[in-house]
Amino acid sequence: MHEHGALAGIELTYNGMNGPNHYGREVPMGPAALPVATFSHEPLQARRMGKADIANLRRWHLAAVRRARTAGFDVIYVYAAHSLSFLSHFLSRRFNDRSDEYGGSIENRVRLLREVTEDARNAVGATCAVPIRISIDDLSNDGGLNRAEVEDMIGCIADLPDLWDVTLAGWENDSRTSRFAEEGHEEEFIRGIKQLTRKPVVGVGRYTSVDRMVSLVRGGVLDLIGAARPSIADPFLPRKIEEGRIEDIRECIGCNICVAGDFTQSPLRCTQNPTMAEEWRRGWHPERVKRKGSDSAVLVVGAGPAGLEAAQVLGKRGYSVTLAESRRELGGRVLDESRLPGLAAWIRVRDYRRGQIERLPNVEVFLDNRLTAEDALGLGIPKILVATGSHWRRDGVGRYHTRPIAIDRDACVLTPDDIMGGALPAGRRVVVWDDDHYYMGGVLAELCAERGYDTHYVTPASEVSTWTRATLEQHFIQTRLLRKGVHIQPFRAVTEVQRGVVVTACVFTGTSETLAADAVVLVTARLPEDGLALELERRRSAWAGAGVESVTVIGDALAPATIAHATYAGRRYAEECDAAAPAAAGPDADAVPFRREITELAGLPKAPLSEHPGGFRC
Ligand code: ADP
Ligand code: SF4
Repeated sequence: MHEHGALAGIELTYNGMNGPNHYGREVPMGPAALPVATFSHEPLQARRMGKADIANLRRWHLAAVRRARTAGFDVIYVYAAHSLSFLSHFLSRRFNDRSDEYGGSIENRVRLLREVTEDARNAVGATCAVPIRISIDDLSNDGGLNRAEVEDMIGCIADLPDLWDVTLAGWENDSRTSRFAEEGHEEEFIRGIKQLTRKPVVGVGRYTSVDRMVSLVRGGVLDLIGAARPSIADPFLPRKIEEGRIEDIRECIGCNICVAGDFTQSPLRCTQNPTMAEEWRRGWHPERVKRKGSDSAVLVVGAGPAGLEAAQVLGKRGYSVTLAESRRELGGRVLDESRLPGLAAWIRVRDYRRGQIERLPNVEVFLDNRLTAEDALGLGIPKILVATGSHWRRDGVGRYHTRPIAIDRDACVLTPDDIMGGALPAGRRVVVWDDDHYYMGGVLAELCAERGYDTHYVTPASEVSTWTRATLEQHFIQTRLLRKGVHIQPFRAVTEVQRGVVVTACVFTGTSETLAADAVVLVTARLPEDGLALELERRRSAWAGAGVESVTVIGDALAPATIAHATYAGRRYAEECDAAAPAAAGPDADAVPFRREITELAGLPKAPLSEHPGGFRC
C-alpha cells in the first residue's frame, strides 16, 4: 500500500454481543446478559461484563493497536458503529442497562469509548491517526441510538479522535441497496456533525456522483467522502475524478452482491467490477488488460451484461470485435430489469460498457440483428462467443417442482419476461408464485400492487425473497410489500393453475387450498436461450470450412444466474480466450485454474506442495 502512495488503515473490534465465538468457544461478553444479536438468531447468550472483563478488554484492544502499528498501519480505527462492536453496545440503552459508571448517563455510556480511544492515542502518539467510527442513529425507536443522544456523546469527546467517521446502524440501514435508498441517503443524519468537533468528519452514502461529493465538501457537511461500494465497483474512482475522466467511472449499481459474499462466506464479488477478488489469483486488473494474443477476430452474439463485458475487454485488448444484438438497444436483461420498480440504477451495467465500446473503433456493433447459425458461420469470424441469455419458464418448474405442474390452457399465466415486455395480468386478482427467492418475485408483486391488483404472493419459503437476506434487503422488501397491501402466503407451493383458480399446498402437511385468481405470475426458473449454440454445435463439421476455430457459450445462455455471474463470464472469456489450453494429459490437465494460497505445515517435506499446479507457498 505504501509503495503505491496509499495510507493503510485497519478497523479493530471485539464484536461482543454480536460474536457467537463458534470457533474459539469463549463465552461472548457485553454490557448486559442478553442473547447474542447476530443476523441468524444464534441460540446462545452473552454474559454481563464485570470490571475485570472491562480491564481485560482494554488491554486486548491496546495490544491490538500496538500490533497494528508494528504491522505498519497508519490509521487505526476505534470501532463503535453498526451495533457490531462492544463499544456500540455500551453506547446504546438498548443493550446497556448497567447501573455502574459504564451505564446510565451519556457520560457513563461513553466512558469505555473514551478510555479505549485514549489508550490507543497514548500508545501510538503521533505515529498513527486514531479515528472513531460511530453510528448516528439506529432507526430502532426502542431505546437504541438516536441523533440527539449521539450528538451529546460526540460532544463529550469531540476532539479526542483524529477523525470522526459517521454512519448509521445496523449495517442494513447503512449499506442500503439502490432499490431502497438513493445515493446520499445518510445526508440528513450526518449534516451538522461537523459543527460539533474541530476534527475532520468522513461519511458514506454510496456516492458516485462527483458533483454531489464536491457539494458535500464545499457545503461543510463532510471533509472526506467515504466510498466502499463505489470503490469496489471502481477502485480507480479517485484517480478518474482527479484526471477528469468522469465518463470512465464504473458506477456502483447498489445491488449488494458484494455484501452477499459476507453471508455466503465467499470472497468479495461485484456486479460492475468482475475483476474484484480475481486480481491476485487470476492476475486480472480492473483497468489494465494485456495485449491480444492472436489476430483472430471475435464475433460476440448478444449484448447483455456477458456479451457487453466480453466485447469491451476484447476491444481494449486490441481484438477486432463484431457485436451482434437482436434488439434495437444494448443491455439485454438489464435493459428490462432496470425498468422495474426500484432497479433503475442497474442500467449502469449497460451504460458503462456502452460508453467504453463507443470509443473503441475496433468494436463494431450491429443492432436489430438476430443471428442464425447460418449467419454466424457465414461471417467467417474465427472465434464465436454466444451470450444469448435466457428466458423465464412458464411451466412451474423451479426449485420446488422439478417437473411441470398442471396448468389449464385457458388460465392467464404470465412470466417475468411477459411483464417486462409490457403485458399485464388479466382481471383484478393476481397470484405471484415465487420459487426463485431472489428479487424478481418481490419486485413483480410490488409492481402488481402498485398497478392496483389484489396481489397474493405465494412462496414455499418462510419469507419474501428469502435470498435477499444476503443483500441486506429482505426486511425492506417484506415491509414494502406489506405496506402496499400484498397478501403474503409463506410455506405454500402453487401445485395447479386452473382458469380463475390457483391450488396451493402447505409445504409441511400437503394440505391443499384454492385461491381465486384471474392471473398467475410464475417466477420460478429460467431456461438458457441456447438455440443458436445447439445449432452451431450440430454444424461443427462446417466450422473449418467457414473459418471458425471455436464456439464458446457463456453467461445466462450457458446457465442462468445473477448479473454478476454474467459480467464475470464475459470478463473471463475476454481474458482467457487466447490462453494456451492445458495439455489434455499430464500434471496440469486438471489443475485449479487460479493461484491459491496453500498453507503449509512446518516440518513437512516442501517439494510436493511447491510443485503443486497452481499452488503458491505462503
Ligand atoms: P446475459 O446476462 O448472459 O448477458 P442477457 O439475457 O442479458 O444475457 O442478454 C442476452 C442478449 O442476447 C439479449 O440482449 C438478446 O436480445 C440477445 N440475443 C439472443 N439471441 C440472439 C441472437 N440469435 N442474435 C443476436 N442477439 C441475440
Ligand atoms: Fe456496487 Fe453491486 Fe458492486 Fe457492491 S456488487 S460494489 S453494490 S455494483
